[in-house]
Amino acid sequence: MHKDTDVLIIGAGAVGLSSAFYLRRRGVSVRIVEKDYPGAGASLKNCGLICPSHFVPLSHPGVISAGLRWMLDPVSPFYVKPRPDPGLISWVMKFRRACSAEITNRSIPLLYELNAASRDLYRDIAALKMFEFDYDEKGLLMVYNTAKGREEGLAEAEIGRKLGIPIREVTADEIAGVDPNLRLKSGGAFHYATDTHLNPQKFVEGMADRIAGDGVDIVTGADVTGIDSRGGSVTGVRTTKGEFRAKEYVLAGGAWSEGIVRPLGLKMPIQPAKGYSITFPRTPEMFSTPMILSERKVAITPLGDRVRYGGTLELAGFGLSVNMRRVRAIAEAVPVYLENVRVPDFTEEDVWAGLRPCSPDGLPYVGRTRKNPNLTVAAGHAMLGITLSPVTGKLVSEIVGGEVPSIDCTLLRPDRFA
Ligand SMILES: Cc1cc2nc3c(=O)[nH]c(=O)nc-3n(C[C@H](O)[C@H](O)[C@H](O)COP(=O)(O)OP(=O)(O)OC[C@H]3O[C@@H](n4cnc5c(N)ncnc54)[C@H](O)[C@@H]3O)c2cc1C
Repeated sequence: MHKDTDVLIIGAGAVGLSSAFYLRRRGVSVRIVEKDYPGAGASLKNCGLICPSHFVPLSHPGVISAGLRWMLDPVSPFYVKPRPDPGLISWVMKFRRACSAEITNRSIPLLYELNAASRDLYRDIAALKMFEFDYDEKGLLMVYNTAKGREEGLAEAEIGRKLGIPIREVTADEIAGVDPNLRLKSGGAFHYATDTHLNPQKFVEGMADRIAGDGVDIVTGADVTGIDSRGGSVTGVRTTKGEFRAKEYVLAGGAWSEGIVRPLGLKMPIQPAKGYSITFPRTPEMFSTPMILSERKVAITPLGDRVRYGGTLELAGFGLSVNMRRVRAIAEAVPVYLENVRVPDFTEEDVWAGLRPCSPDGLPYVGRTRKNPNLTVAAGHAMLGITLSPVTGKLVSEIVGGEVPSIDCTLLRPDRFA
């Protein structure tokens, strides 16, 4: 039996580590149990974009019909593996309901508030100079090359401007004004100047080292196999490295979170949504502004002397098998948009795959559960887990500390689908 801590966190992804960081700053003792190593889930080689621009949740009007069209295309950025999985079917039904204009419009201001607050916290963390994670404020280009792509970009930009985001549209001829090393073949882009980016691996590894130095006990190779509770309160967590107890528990298990707390009777639907990235050397003459190729849903992030290309969302269960046709489609999209940029040849060994933890309504789960008052959930951040890590960690520290959270988390209740 190990010495008890004030707080036990399950999962050392970006969300669990950020939660430990903010909790530790309050002077409480913290332990993290992690089945593999920090960042082993989705947090290591994702695209590292910090996106106030991504205020529209994954579930929104029109996404179902686009998804059905994409399902018929073997190289599209979206795929659902058909299978008789009651969890998937129930999730899809909830997702469909959440695609209403009413629910989307309710989520947008909150998602923006969370994204923007988290971007500001990243700036604070970078200013502390605790470790280097290549934080950079270059904005984000939403590049389009069709009339439909522009129309959709414009509709989002109009919502964004109402939220107060400075967004400028630039044509292919004007793009050098944003990034002198970038040439678009056609179309144009919406420049979201207040987005930022970082190197996710450096952030995760730097944060893990930093909090370990501050006394957080990170137990790696500790797979949670059971959670015990009495009278509603969680009393302990059983792992492959023994049993751990604490006063408060935080669930930050990413895509695995639903399964971890299922024995407690907590219904918190999360589907793992697989995505891929490939990373190559970058020369100094190459563009330095991150971008999204809108129609193909491909993200490109310059990371110092590397450049990363990422994309695809596959609802295909927990496996990490690589569909090379879809990864090649990411690479092939690049020269369609950009002049003088080709993705080098690569093999399956070069591909990183990660599972985004997706809730049906595109909002994360953040808050205490009604059934288990000493359990706080921080999961379900889908494609925004890097963006939202600091704000989630800060909110977790406020909730665990018994304070009213600085951002209203009512819509993020972990038991909202129960
Ligand atoms: C291709 C791709 C690109 C992306 N790009 C971006 C981006 O540009 N910007 C952005 O904001 N987000 C991006 N994301 C999303 C982001 O990666 C995730 O939302 C984020 O990493 C989730 O963090 P997390 O800490 O919640 O989960 P994870 O990082 O998955 O961490 C959960 C941890 O829990 C551990 N765990 C699970 N089960 C157990 C158990 N039983 N016992 C102990 N430990 C357990 C896991 O090993 C893991 O380390 C991208 C994702 C992908 C796939």
